[in-house]
Parts: sequence; C-alpha cells; structure tokens
Amino acid sequence: MSSQTGQVAVITGAASGIGRGLAEEAARRGMRLVLADLDAPGLDRLCDALRANATEVVSRVTDVGQLAQVEALRDCAVESFGGVDLLFNNAGVIQTGYSWEISQSQWQRMLDVNLNGVIHGIRSFLPLLLRQGRAGHVINTASLAGLLNSPLLAPYNVTKQAVVALSETLHYELALLDAPIAVSVICPGPVASAIMDSNQHSDAAGDGLSQLLDGRIRHGMSPAELAALVFDAIDAKRFWVLPHKDFKAALQRRVRSILEETNPQFRMPDAEGRDHVS
Ligand code: NAD
Repeated sequence: MSSQTGQVAVITGAASGIGRGLAEEAARRGMRLVLADLDAPGLDRLCDALRANATEVVSRVTDVGQLAQVEALRDCAVESFGGVDLLFNNAGVIQTGYSWEISQSQWQRMLDVNLNGVIHGIRSFLPLLLRQGRAGHVINTASLAGLLNSPLLAPYNVTKQAVVALSETLHYELALLDAPIAVSVICPGPVASAIMDSNQHSDAAGDGLSQLLDGRIRHGMSPAELAALVFDAIDAKRFWVLPHKDFKAALQRRVRSILEETNPQFRMPDAEGRDHVS
C-alpha cells in the first residue's frame, strides 16, 4: 500500500519528537489523523497547528500501557473516520542505569510503555485491519537498541529487541495468511526529541550516560527527515527502516561475533554511529 490522500493514520506518542514528525508528514500527504499521547496540552497544540492547515484530525489522551485505552483509541478511529489504514505504534520512554539498580517500578514502566504499548496496539487493531479486507500497514518504532546492545540501557535494549521480534513475527504471520497488511520496524539512531526527559533519576553511571545521550539526541536527525524516510519505506512496503546507515558496521560486527561464537565487545560509537575500529 502506498501512502495516499484520505487514508487514516493512527499515531501513538504523537505529541512530541518522532511521533509529531510522523503526524506532520502524514498530514502533508493529505491523510486523516488519529493522534494519541499521554500529554493532553501537547496533543491540543499539535491538533490546532494541523487544523490550521486543513488537516482532518482527532486526538485522544491514551496511555498505551493500558489495553482498554488502546481499544478505546481504535473505537475512536472507527467512529471518527470509519476505519484505519496505517497504525504507528510509536510511544516510548527511556531508562538508564545498571540493570540491577533500576527499580522494579522503572523496569515495569519500560515494559508497560515500550513493549506492552506495542502489544496492545497489535491486539487492538489487527483484528480490525484484517476484517476491513483492504491494504493496511503497521509501523512499529523500535530503535537501534533493537539490534545492538549498549551497557546501562537494559530495559531499553530488552523492550526494543522485543519490538523487533514482535514486528518480524507479525510480518511472517500476515504473510502466512496472505493478508494485504504490511509491517515495518523503525530502528533509528539519535533523533532530535524530548525522550531524555522521560529518563528517571538513576545511579551515577546512568546519569553520565544520560548526559551523553542528551547531547547526541539534541543534535540528532530531525523528526521531519526521519518521517520522510519512514514514508518512503511504507510506499516501498519495506520492513526494515534503518535511517542511520553508519551503524551497519557495528551490526555486521555483532552478527559476525555471534556466528563465530566470539565474545561481544562494546565500543562506544560516535554520534554518527562510527565506532573507532570500523
Ligand atoms: P519524545 O519523548 O519526544 O516523544 C515520545 C512521546 O510519547 C511523548 O509525547 C510522550 O508524552 C509519549 N508517551 C510516553 N509515554 C506514553 C504512554 N504511556 N502512552 C502514550 N504516549 C506516551 O521521544 P521520541 O524520541 O520522539 O520517541 C518516540 C519513539 O522513538 C520511542 O519509541 C523511542 O524509543 C523511539 N526512538 C527514539 C530515538 C531518539 O533518538 N529520539 C531513537 C530511536 C528510537
């Protein structure tokens, strides 16, 4: 399915960063939007800006960690626009710190938002997309952390790799059914956004990493540039979306270490993803 005027796109985590960039690109393409976020004022500001440009948009305050709220989001999309063409499971948060020092509630928050949020999106919307019997597309925002592990980011690595696994499984399942629904998984490196604001205070090492990430994210790819690449992938029905190409060397090295059964070695990449040996 290529992205077309009039299609209905549901986007979670739409009030900021990548979600907002996706919403603006979808609006530019003439889509009708159903926007979800925990941040009610942020959603209102975005809706006002989009409506000023004649975009048809509804919004709903939604905690993606709560299944009933994601089901209500689906019902809102059906009531407002009669169906859904694109689902962006995008909302996410981050947590730094040593695995064993991250509290149970911090682990739970990461599992609820980053992983259960996507599970809830799939369980709520896939039956609708299949029932509609027309083309559709599910786009899950994972991260480079869905493919490469770094220290001090355990719940982020764990949840993002689970999102990659879930996306790939869904892709195979829809192919088994010969369903006209495509899947893409977005695995970006740094993108300019407010995600570090979601990091809760952690141990000293976690806070040091947080400062480093903060700088890289502030100077990261713009959400508009990322969104254009994502819509290119949607139009091409491409599953993998890896916007930061320089990270591929580290990915190759990881796969080689698995295949050769050599111990993994972490090397801090620079802002573009080049580490010091590639
Ligand atoms: P962001 O903080 O700017 O935007 C995330 C949005 O999600 C916020 O508006 C926030 O209010 C919302 N949100 C948080 N918890 C929610 C919940 N429980 N229910 C609904 N909405 C919720 O951050 P971003 O960088 O735009 O993050 C979007 C996605 O991109 C996340 O999944 C993140 O992990 C992923 N990502 C970001 C980067 C990056 O460098 N910024 C890189 C790779 C992946």
